[in-house]
Amino acid sequence: MSLHELTDEQREVRALARRFADEAIAPHAAEWDRSHTFPKAVFAQLGELGLMGACVPEAHGGAGTDFLSYVLALEELARADGGVAVTVAVHTSAATLPLLAHGTPEQIDRWVPPLAQGHELGAFALTEPEAGSDAGALRTRADADGLVTGSKQFITTGSHAHLLIVFARDEAANGAISAFVVRRPAAGLAVAREEEKMGLNSSSTAALTFERTPGELLGARGAGMRIALGTLDGGRIGIAAQAVGIAQAALDVATAYAKERVAFGGPIARFGAIQEKLAEMQTEIEAARALTWRAARLKQAGHPHTVEGAQAKLFASRVARHWTGEAIQILGGYGYTREFPAERYYRDAKVTEIYEGTSEIQRLVIARALLGAAARNPGAQRR
Ligand SMILES: Cc1cc2nc3c(=O)[nH]c(=O)nc-3n(C[C@H](O)[C@H](O)[C@H](O)COP(=O)(O)OP(=O)(O)OC[C@H]3O[C@@H](n4cnc5c(N)ncnc54)[C@H](O)[C@@H]3O)c2cc1C
Repeated sequence: MSLHELTDEQREVRALARRFADEAIAPHAAEWDRSHTFPKAVFAQLGELGLMGACVPEAHGGAGTDFLSYVLALEELARADGGVAVTVAVHTSAATLPLLAHGTPEQIDRWVPPLAQGHELGAFALTEPEAGSDAGALRTRADADGLVTGSKQFITTGSHAHLLIVFARDEAANGAISAFVVRRPAAGLAVAREEEKMGLNSSSTAALTFERTPGELLGARGAGMRIALGTLDGGRIGIAAQAVGIAQAALDVATAYAKERVAFGGPIARFGAIQEKLAEMQTEIEAARALTWRAARLKQAGHPHTVEGAQAKLFASRVARHWTGEAIQILGGYGYTREFPAERYYRDAKVTEIYEGTSEIQRLVIARALLGAAARNPGAQRR
């Protein structure tokens, strides 16, 4: 994408994130993947650079950039390590931003600065073992004193987060869903399991249990689903950026390899079949990036961005999954080994079609806006 489309500030944030990603993340990404290391120290360093709260106002401890700058930083982090990128994405757009949007001034003063400065990590706990896409079916409950009991599944940074936004059926709201903030150390909160995943091994994904765990109400009683869905509307733009970053990394490695690998007396880059793949790959990545930037700009301007965010995530995640696979193809047998990062990109890319709403759910969001009431299916929740 042309740098001319960005402001000076956006270019600066992107350059800062790129430099840090190249120097402090990319050289370690393969090892973190192999050893399943959650690189805690990196988040403190990102905090010092202002990248754990890039788009959080300076008055609340953030760097005060616009939303697109944050998205550009996420793409750069994902280019180096998809796991680091998702940790930052969930921390920022699924934990810190909803606190800013729905907290009282006193709650914001208490909770947001340590998160925005990277001293603390945040998590978003909506999914349950039997409620994923159908999030409205969640069963975790909070009694009238705000004591939370239940189980959450697949919670990014769940083992490490200092603060979690937990969605629960609220006795004080006649069983409607409310959002609660749980802070560690928290009585009755336990990590039931750290998931063993296909990829994103530098991120933590945990199953959590809550047993009469004290939670503090965030936002209005019974407003939990509205808060959750609004959070995911913005969060998806970050996941689209993550997908673009992973796909870009795959393009970079495939391009370099095509110029160096010799077959039949010359570099494989001279074969039309390889050129076609690389040209298509670059074009689709640019298209995914354009959709992502468009959604980010709409959000920044305060315009509706539900459909645009869903389109960006649907398209960018497909591009990432498809073209990371083709990057392996360009590298041939070496692409299938751990000697090159292409296979890690492929494993990391897949989940972008699943979390913050599966691709099927993104299509549902888009189709409902397109078709209106005619698209209503009583069995389908809009995640
Ligand atoms: C690595 C990772 C990190 C995650 N991080 C978080 C997190 O931080 N916080 C959090 O709350 N959750 C998190 N999740 C959960 C994630 O958002 C859910 O996995 C996702 O929403 C899908 O829910 P599910 O897994 O229950 O699948 P299901 O909802 O059971 O879906 C199974 C299949 O059915 C399809 N399907 C379901 N409903 C419909 C429908 N109405 N129409 C058409 N198809 C449908 C789905 O698209 C999918 O293909 C994470 C998941 C992973 C893997």
